[in-house]
Amino acid sequence: MVVEDQAVPRRIAVEILRDLGVAEILQAEDGQDALELIRRGGAPLDVIICDLDMPRMDGVEFIRNVAEANLGASIVLASAVEAAVLASVEAMARSQGMAVLGVLEKPVTPQKLGDMLARHGSMQANYARLEAPSVDPAELEEAIHDRHIAPHFQPMVRMSDGRIIGFEALARWSHSERGTLHPEMFIPIAESSGLIDPLTWVMLECAVAEAVRWRQAGHRWTISVNLSLPYLERQGVADRIAALVERHALQPGSVVLEVTESLAATQIAQVLGNIARLRMKGFGIAIDDYGTGYATLQQLSRMPFTELKIDRSFVSGSPDRPNLHAILRSSVELARQLNLGSVAEGVETASEWHQLDSIGCDVAQGYLVAPPMPPESLLGWATAWAGTA
Ligand code: C2E
Ligand code: CA
Ligand code: CA
Repeated sequence: MVVEDQAVPRRIAVEILRDLGVAEILQAEDGQDALELIRRGGAPLDVIICDLDMPRMDGVEFIRNVAEANLGASIVLASAVEAAVLASVEAMARSQGMAVLGVLEKPVTPQKLGDMLARHGSMQANYARLEAPSVDPAELEEAIHDRHIAPHFQPMVRMSDGRIIGFEALARWSHSERGTLHPEMFIPIAESSGLIDPLTWVMLECAVAEAVRWRQAGHRWTISVNLSLPYLERQGVADRIAALVERHALQPGSVVLEVTESLAATQIAQVLGNIARLRMKGFGIAIDDYGTGYATLQQLSRMPFTELKIDRSFVSGSPDRPNLHAILRSSVELARQLNLGSVAEGVETASEWHQLDSIGCDVAQGYLVAPPMPPESLLGWATAWAGTA
């Protein structure tokens, strides 16, 4: 649905949508019109593209109404108002539980609108996952034991020349009845039920074994593994990981351990000690989801990080949003000043890639390059990528 009071921009948006292959498009002149159309029913709405400044009922009021009606539609904000105002309306919509795909600045182009619709697809998949019933710790324990939890691998590529530099291991559970389960379904349960220890261990073992296979095939890619804080609270973690890597004759320098920024750990001294030990042994340490935590600068000053992974919430939609662009630029600059590698997460579009490249970000990871893939597809994918990059 396109909600826009001016006829010309409305018609342009509708034409672009039609060219993009959208089958059914509704149009409304303002919020009141739109609400009437919605009340009349019909097929459920997927995406609402909404101007903010309209007579009778403006976009802000309309979005509030839509949020209350709980339609499940995603919103694209289209408006010529100041970027910071758009961002705050976006935050308002989000706080009412609405998926906001982004802010579309005028003039609307097929590229911009296409990017937004692509985001709708990936968001729908995320919501479906979040709404799924939770898992039972006993079942999780069995799955870890039976190795039904194993990593998929997502490539990280150097922005200057597209070369693959490594892969991140991301946990996947192949569930006999529910298909593939994503980590947000079971990592929090693992963390709270004491199962994060064996789970992390399975991930580390699989990831290291995979990295050995890459070496045998002649590739020197790094392997990144996520370590939860409850895992890092355990004693002896650094020695165990070092022993594992040594047993496989892998260099610690080719293993990167990703740690989230929010150090809400109860055993903070233990966590810091383990990270320091891992770094002394030569492992890479990445600060994950950079920008979303709270004690950011303090932690940066006291942790031996080697890599800064900028959270995808700053990457997604940044070309259309000067505020995000400024945050990205300063994060990349900070990484450079601190001598850390910079990695942008969640790069989905070519315009995001170009922007990151222009501000000197070192490495990109995201669906634009490839989604996480099972190990058996990895070498084939890498060959194909090297052929095109
Ligand atoms: P993360 O470390 O930030 O991992 C990146 C997540 O972003 C992955 O989700 C990945 O599939 C997703 N992603 C990658 N590129 C794109 C993109 O272009 N667009 C979008 N929208 N998403 C993208 P995934 O695999 O579902 O993992 C979610 C989180 O679960 C991870 O976030 C990580 O914090 C945690 N996790 C995954 N595996 C493990 C693990 O073995 N141990 C621990 N402790 N945590 C894990
Ligand atoms: Ca990570
Ligand atoms: Ca991350």
